[in-house]
Amino acid sequence: MSRVLIVGAGIAGSTLAYWLARDGAEVTVVERAGGERSSGSPVDVRGPATAVVERMGLHAQIQQAATRATGLAIVDPSGRRVGRIPIQPGEGVELPRADLARILADAARDVAEFVYGDTVTTLDDGGAGVDVTFEHATPRRFDLVVGADGVHSRVRRLAFGPENAFVRHLGMYVATVALDGPALDERTVLMHNAPGRAIAVHPTTGRELAAFIFRARHTSHADPVTLLDDAYRGMGWRVPELLDRARTADDLWFDTVSRVRLPRWSRGRTVLVGDAASCVSLLGEGSSLAIAGAATLAGALATGPVDTALRTYEHTHRRLTMPKQHGVGPLSHLLVPATEGGIALRNLAVRCWRSAG
Ligand SMILES: Cc1cc2nc3c(=O)[nH]c(=O)nc-3n(C[C@H](O)[C@H](O)[C@H](O)COP(=O)(O)OP(=O)(O)OC[C@H]3O[C@@H](n4cnc5c(N)ncnc54)[C@H](O)[C@@H]3O)c2cc1C
Repeated sequence: MSRVLIVGAGIAGSTLAYWLARDGAEVTVVERAGGERSSGSPVDVRGPATAVVERMGLHAQIQQAATRATGLAIVDPSGRRVGRIPIQPGEGVELPRADLARILADAARDVAEFVYGDTVTTLDDGGAGVDVTFEHATPRRFDLVVGADGVHSRVRRLAFGPENAFVRHLGMYVATVALDGPALDERTVLMHNAPGRAIAVHPTTGRELAAFIFRARHTSHADPVTLLDDAYRGMGWRVPELLDRARTADDLWFDTVSRVRLPRWSRGRTVLVGDAASCVSLLGEGSSLAIAGAATLAGALATGPVDTALRTYEHTHRRLTMPKQHGVGPLSHLLVPATEGGIALRNLAVRCWRSAG
């Protein structure tokens, strides 16, 4: 594999760029955004991802960026706390997604070429290589093209088919936006609910971050701010202030909660990694899987012929992603109860948990 194009400088793309370049490939990463993004909920680095970041020498940087939250407090419309659930850090580290993406991209930047503000427009796999055209850059041929461009992967659409064949909207949306100031209590994530809607403020590190999670059918034509306005209008607590921030933010992240499933992750000399191949969405587990998947793909490519390597990668990594795709449903009922009764029941359970503990 001498020349590799990775589309997407997210969690999977940067991790893969690092490992492939370290193994001697000439790696180009093309990223649609003009630069690094500031939004995104805190995510975990855990399980097999921990060993990968350790081998990259990034463990200390990741620890340094770790959030310090130890609990999730549920608040009523006046801000009064009605219950608190401990957050178990377990063996992993939680850090803002933006910090993780930056740390991984910084590690890869020394060994790979990063092109921001561009994307692919066509892929032509002639067998001996893939001819690629870009929105801005001049066309080039690569030995391998990797789609690390997230849930709505353009590479997947170009090489495998339309999004609706592989992506299932799970009836919820997520939006995140970084706030301006630091949190008063860096140990506590605050969450407020109305039926079908949750809004959380995470203290992160240095700068609070708001996350909106709400239930709605697919309304792909509405813009994010209109959807947020419609969903959250009339709610109490800090919601009016947070909606204002979402309206004016230049880096609001907004997406459906979706599951991605494909019968195969590679076709010819094009392969998918991270959310593009197997998004499990919600609560950040996707980042650990993206890191692990990228390392598995790089490891397979370093040790065998391409066709075998792509099959080995898929066989190995599917065993990790498949079980995770089932956890979203139960979790969503806890975070975003659909009715007043569901909220009352959840709050009661939280209070009982606290008094039992
Ligand atoms: C800014 C941002 C905020 C996020 N916030 C959350 C969150 O709050 N909660 C949550 O559950 N998940 C969130 N995610 C998704 C989460 O990061 C992923 O589920 C997980 O990290 C898997 O990583 P990935 O590398 O596969 O995809 P991602 O981390 O999504 O990275 C994909 C990258 O590809 C880029 N890209 C997309 N399309 C193209 C294109 N056509 N050409 C070139 N580049 C392209 C994107 O800009 C991004 O940098 C967020 C993603 C982004 C980009």
